[in-house]
Amino acid sequence: MKEKILIVEDNPRDMRLLDMTLRAKGYSLLKATDGEKALDMVIRERPDLIIMDIQLPKINGLEVTRKLRNTLAFSHIPIIAITAYAMKGDKERAIEAGCDAYLSKPINTRQLPGVIAEMLLHRQKITSSTNGDGNGEEDSRS
Ligand code: MN
Repeated sequence: MKEKILIVEDNPRDMRLLDMTLRAKGYSLLKATDGEKALDMVIRERPDLIIMDIQLPKINGLEVTRKLRNTLAFSHIPIIAITAYAMKGDKERAIEAGCDAYLSKPINTRQLPGVIAEMLLHRQKITSSTNGDGNGEEDSRS
């Protein structure tokens, strides 16, 4: 089965663009339009990867990312940050908060699928190489 991707985006036009782009690749998509809903969705659905807009209502994307990184069960989910205002220091802030990659808007729909595929592949390698080392980390996946 194709991986589950959570799209966190409050701008309807960007959400539609991301939806179309990733649906075409066959991913199973989840959506959240603010930071609170994003956290709820991660807890309930345990997505394989998250696309995180940074400017969000309620809890911004950096704060959502920090919260996830501080929770063992969600600390390894790949997160791609997306921001509308590509300002100096944005990328550094996103990476510092725990995002694995950073893209600026307008969203490059040709580039994004490759970035996602690569991150999912990398994640699988990490998962399989750390399997069975008995580090005691809880994992409900079977
Ligand atoms: Mn936004």
